[in-house]
Amino acid sequence: MFVYADNAATTAVSKTALEAMLPALHEMYGNPSSLHQKGREANMALIGARETVAKCLNASPKEIYFTGCGTEADNWAITEGARLGALAGKKHIISDTIEHHAVLHTLAKLEKQGFEVTYLPVHSNGIVRVEELEAAIRPDTCLVTIMFSNNEIGTLQPIREIGAICRSRGILFHTDAVQAVGHVPVDVEADHIDMLSLSGHKFHAPKGVGALYCRKGIKLKNFIEGGAQERGKRGGTEAIPAILAMAAAMQESCEHLPENMAHVTAMRDKLIEGLSKIPYSHCNGDPDHKAPGIVSFCFEGIEGESLLLRLDLAGICASSGSACTSGSLDPSHVLLALGLPHEIAHGSLRLSLCEYNTMEEVDYILEQVPQVVKTLRQMSPVWMHMLEKMPDPYQD
Ligand SMILES: *Cc1c(COP(=O)(O)O)cnc(C)c1O
Repeated sequence: MFVYADNAATTAVSKTALEAMLPALHEMYGNPSSLHQKGREANMALIGARETVAKCLNASPKEIYFTGCGTEADNWAITEGARLGALAGKKHIISDTIEHHAVLHTLAKLEKQGFEVTYLPVHSNGIVRVEELEAAIRPDTCLVTIMFSNNEIGTLQPIREIGAICRSRGILFHTDAVQAVGHVPVDVEADHIDMLSLSGHKFHAPKGVGALYCRKGIKLKNFIEGGAQERGKRGGTEAIPAILAMAAAMQESCEHLPENMAHVTAMRDKLIEGLSKIPYSHCNGDPDHKAPGIVSFCFEGIEGESLLLRLDLAGICASSGSACTSGSLDPSHVLLALGLPHEIAHGSLRLSLCEYNTMEEVDYILEQVPQVVKTLRQMSPVWMHMLEKMPDPYQD
């Protein structure tokens, strides 16, 4: 059996998205800035895509800027939020310890430029406490950037409450919603969001396209100098095929959100229940505030990398944390932020599901993972060492 359970790293392009992009690769090849019929045709399609993306977020089309990826949207939003703050003499930013590197590295760059960043702790459940956020606000706080849904452990932050606080204090609020859009309801009005980043390839559009929502009235500066594309703020001929595919994928996931969420949540819960039966296992994140598709576990006494390789041999594609940190031997910053000791964080496994997965696949995962964990433990010196101090759970 083959199971793709790494949808938080990237997703397969849907049939709908593919069909939406094909005409733009063939007959609809015009440059939307051209004045002739081919250009007009492409421009009409672009206008339609912007309307679709805006509608899915409850935004207005003028508030949507297409970008090359989610990382670019994060960089743009945070850099701009900081620049606008500095103009008003405010150079303090609030974020948290489990953000994606697209956010953390942008913040690190700003710190070198003289901004001060408070990283809120997330506690053992992976969630920021609203009282702590309120307490961290200073007269010079210009920007709060807190992710919607975490890519490694799937925790959902109290976005609406955070948005309301920021709005009442006149502080810009950005959220990295790359793992949220297409997976859980996102409404920029109800959630009081000023800036939001999203990425197509996390919800069945191709790689290389994303968007930044920026509430009207916020005076965004140009991010890429060039032509008049994206209201002159992001030059470069628009990636029409990818943009059309993203809009189609977004519309499809928004339309089917309730049933997709129900299906994915049921699979997630079955996985959590089954994997929890493995001795010395820890389920990461908060069971009540969790994205539908992300399951994160740590198994004591083993290395996450070895687990992944064995699962790959069994036909299961999974991850030990985020794709961006794989290859490095350090445990993920997200798992460490939960307060897990290094040796436990090392034995991590992330399974991320989407609506294409099936219960049969979940059953197969639940058949394979416990066996592989047991095999690896029996070869592990760390596990042997643990057995000196505890009864062997595999001995009956
Ligand atoms: C994938 C991801 C990103 C980066 O998006 P790209 O389009 O791959 O640049 C940013 N934030 C989160 C939470 C992600 O999961």
